[in-house]
Amino acid sequence: MSLPTVRYLPGTRIVASLAAGALLLEDAQTSYRLDYEQLILCCGAQELLLPFPGWTLPGVTGAGALQALIKSGASVAGERVLIAGSGPLLLASAATARAAGALVSGVYEQTDRYQLINFGVGLLRWPGKLAQAFKLFSTRYRWRSHVIEAMGDRRLEAVRIRQGDAEAVIACDRLACGFGLVPNTVLAQHLGCSLEDNAVAVDRYQQTSQTGIYAAGECTGVGGSELALVEGEVAGLAATGKVEQAQALFTHRAYWQRFARHVKEHFGLRPEIRRLARVDTLICRCEDVALSVLAEEQGWNAAKLQSRCGMGACQGRICGSIARELFGWSLPEPRVPLVPARIETLMACSEKDMS
Ligand SMILES: Cc1cc2nc3c(=O)[nH]c(=O)nc-3n(C[C@H](O)[C@H](O)[C@H](O)COP(=O)(O)OP(=O)(O)OC[C@H]3O[C@@H](n4cnc5c(N)ncnc54)[C@H](O)[C@@H]3O)c2cc1C
Repeated sequence: MSLPTVRYLPGTRIVASLAAGALLLEDAQTSYRLDYEQLILCCGAQELLLPFPGWTLPGVTGAGALQALIKSGASVAGERVLIAGSGPLLLASAATARAAGALVSGVYEQTDRYQLINFGVGLLRWPGKLAQAFKLFSTRYRWRSHVIEAMGDRRLEAVRIRQGDAEAVIACDRLACGFGLVPNTVLAQHLGCSLEDNAVAVDRYQQTSQTGIYAAGECTGVGGSELALVEGEVAGLAATGKVEQAQALFTHRAYWQRFARHVKEHFGLRPEIRRLARVDTLICRCEDVALSVLAEEQGWNAAKLQSRCGMGACQGRICGSIARELFGWSLPEPRVPLVPARIETLMACSEKDMS
């Protein structure tokens, strides 16, 4: 990056917070401590996956995950791909798959026709988004439809779909199923920032409950790239004392906040989507914990003690959001290291420095 006052650190991960005002970072070569006076968190969001029979079969991914896989080089040319779940991301994922040579057999959206029509009409207030929706629209888009199960012996072979009151089994090579995005609050929670509505709580200057720590973008609530950008500007200006310039952006931010609410209101999950898992469906894929085991528990701590749920490689990043959706449990408390880290990185950080 060419700005003289900005040091860009690509491929760098925040592993932990050290004593107040310092973070432990790791890149491909080394780990080091970074001190800060003001911090702006832009940790993004992660895809919400909800379990259904067969969701752990090879060939089944999230809708956003399929897009990410293709962008990082996975070949889907000639493969039959089915996209399902909820939200605008489904159409973007289908377009990416099609452009990569996949045969997209259908895009199955759980929300109903009435909601979709209202959503489309409401987009007149955001003409750029309306144009994007027209560009991405697929004649294979189906409303009020969802996956019932993914079928296959060693990998995905077919998907059972419910569309309205009818059911169909559709042969395919890949299923990309995602139910929108959920804010990534791991680092903010670790730093002691309060949450509101499962996102990092911020005031109008994007400041969190911790003085000197700001947050912007999807970690403060999912709203798309335009909202993330203007929130980032407000946070940057406020953190550097340019309060009036930050205030000048409030109207523009409100415009995109309304768009975020518009999306949220029209893609709410129907109750049956949270009931797709059967008693033997795995919820925690890392530790092979089934729904029947978790249904007996009262919350995360009990579930961990009894079943090791959330204690595997992903440390509850996937099953934590699932348990919140299915059982209403709060997210597990983040633990250090916040991301997988090398032994040397952990050794570089003496225990007394860990917050
Ligand atoms: C698959 C996909 C497709 C999308 N398509 C569109 C689209 O077509 N149009 C549109 O408007 N929006 C789209 N979006 C949404 C858009 O990407 C987001 O609105 C925007 O990127 C949000 O910006 P952000 O800065 O909040 O988060 P992000 O751009 O997600 O950035 C968050 C960053 O934080 C990093 N991070 C998190 N934790 C740590 C840590 N501990 N250490 C170091 N780094 C960390 C992540 O690696 C990531 O790089 C899409 C999103 C996804 C997932």
